[in-house]
Order: sequence, then structure tokens, then C-alpha cells
Amino acid sequence: MKYYLGIDIGGTAVKAGIITENGEVIEKRSLSANINNYQVPLLERVKKAALEIKTAAQKKEFEIQGIGVSAAGQIDSNKGMIIGDNGHIPDWKGTNLKREIEELTDLKTEVENDANCAAIAEKWIGNARDYKDIIIYTIGTGIGAGIIIDNQIFNGSRGIGGEIGHMIIEHQGRKCSCGNRGCFEQYASMTALVRDVKKELKLDQEIDGKYIFEELKAKNDEIKKVVDQFLNYHATAIISLLHIFNPEAVIIGGGVSAQKELLIKPLEEIVRAKAMPAYTEEFTLKTAALSNDAGMIGAVKNFIERH
Ligand SMILES: [Zn+2]
Repeated sequence: MKYYLGIDIGGTAVKAGIITENGEVIEKRSLSANINNYQVPLLERVKKAALEIKTAAQKKEFEIQGIGVSAAGQIDSNKGMIIGDNGHIPDWKGTNLKREIEELTDLKTEVENDANCAAIAEKWIGNARDYKDIIIYTIGTGIGAGIIIDNQIFNGSRGIGGEIGHMIIEHQGRKCSCGNRGCFEQYASMTALVRDVKKELKLDQEIDGKYIFEELKAKNDEIKKVVDQFLNYHATAIISLLHIFNPEAVIIGGGVSAQKELLIKPLEEIVRAKAMPAYTEEFTLKTAALSNDAGMIGAVKNFIERH
């Protein structure tokens, strides 16, 4: 059996795990990514996670083949470098993550964007296994898409394609962290949904997705109105993706994917009602299988494919 290390760098946590050649996670740990608004640089947190998981693997006497890294932002996956960060993280853009981790651990390393890693993982051992043209569509603090065309992840010329969260849907719309206005994720990310519910219901307290789902279950009509708009935004985006890419399947990831009756079923109904029929006749909409570990698992598969 061959063993690899997977590292998943997200906005709130840096996760690291020991992963087998079959995609099984046999040990994992998580540390917070953001300490006091990044007073500890994110790179230092990543290095700490890498060393901790390498030590854990050494204790088990595993011979590690290499490290796969999944990171948010725009990644030049050939260089393993962060070439854009959508304005979120101080001192992150320009980091050569591949070189930093290789020098630290003495292990070969590959870096790929988080949405692409999630897609690669679903294609490898998740719910996208049976398809060759797939879009893995993740709704979280932002919105990401991993696009697989004829079994290959679509990267674009610098490896940064597929940023549907920054597809502009309103040319003078809401301000986005990337510096533009009217980006899709300002209307339809979980962050946007929470903000819109708070505004619409004039709530003072902090709320989260869980609160919204519970109120929805309890038939809160005011919240349902906001959620219906949220679902229509996603249906519109998915229909547009169907019309452009004509995939066999769209796989929905992120926290919403657990809400099958409440969100996924009505979303699918809108998509099927509004898309041109030929695009949905042989089309499947599913939820993701891998949830929290998808980033690490996909990063390792990306490493294996590149070596
Ligand atoms: Zn944007």
C-alpha cells in the first residue's frame, strides 16, 4: 500500500491527513487557519499542519510518496503558486506553496485549487465516478465549480478557470471581495443567504445556515421567500452551465447538500422546468459524497496523476 499526505487550506481551517493510494483517510487533524485576523500568517499555519501530519506518518512508519495540497484562491497548478486570492487573505498572493512545502518536508508536492480538488475527489471515489462530463458545484462561503470534460479537469490556460462565483450577473451590482461588482457569490453564497435573511427579517442576532434550515422546516414564510430567491439564483446558474457544457451530471457540494428535501429537490425541479429539454433528458443532479475530506482526497489524487 502506498501512502500520501493531503493538506486542505480553507478560510477557517487547515486540515491535513494521511491518505492511502485508494483515497482512504486513515488519520487526520485540523487547525484553525485564521488567528486574530491572520496575525499569524496563513503560510505558517500550513507549515505547522504539514510538519504535524508528516510526524504522525513517521510514527506509523509509513513511507510517504508525496503531498497533495488543496488551496482556496487562484492557483497556478503547474508552478504550485498562489497567483490571486480574491482579496481575502493578507500576504497570500505570490506564495510559492509547492516550493515552501517541498523545502520544509523534503517531499514532492503538488498544489491545486480547492474547487478542482473537490471535483477530482468526487470523480475518483465519490458520486461522479460513473460520469465523464461533470460539474461539481459547491455552495459555501463562496461558490466554486470544478468542471470535468471527458474525464479531465478543465483548468484554463493558467489553471484558474471555473470561477463561477465571480461570474458577473449584475453589472452595477453588489461589491465583491475580488474588487468587482455584481459577482454571483454576492447573491447566492451561504454568506449572502445569511446576510439577506438577516436583512429581510430585520434580525439583530447572528444567524447561520442551520438556523435558516430549521426555520424553513418550521414553515417560516418570510425565510422561504429569501430561500426561494437563493434557489432560483442557483437554478439559473446551473441551467446556464448545462447550456454551455452539456454535462451528464451536476453534483452539488457544501452544507446545503445535506438538505435534500428542503433545498436540493426544489432546486432540481426548477432546473428541469426551465432548462431546454434536450439538456435535461439524460441529465442527473446529485449531491456530493465526500463532504469535509474532499479537498484532501482530491489533492492527493491530483498528486498521483501528476507523478
Ligand atoms: Zn467577485
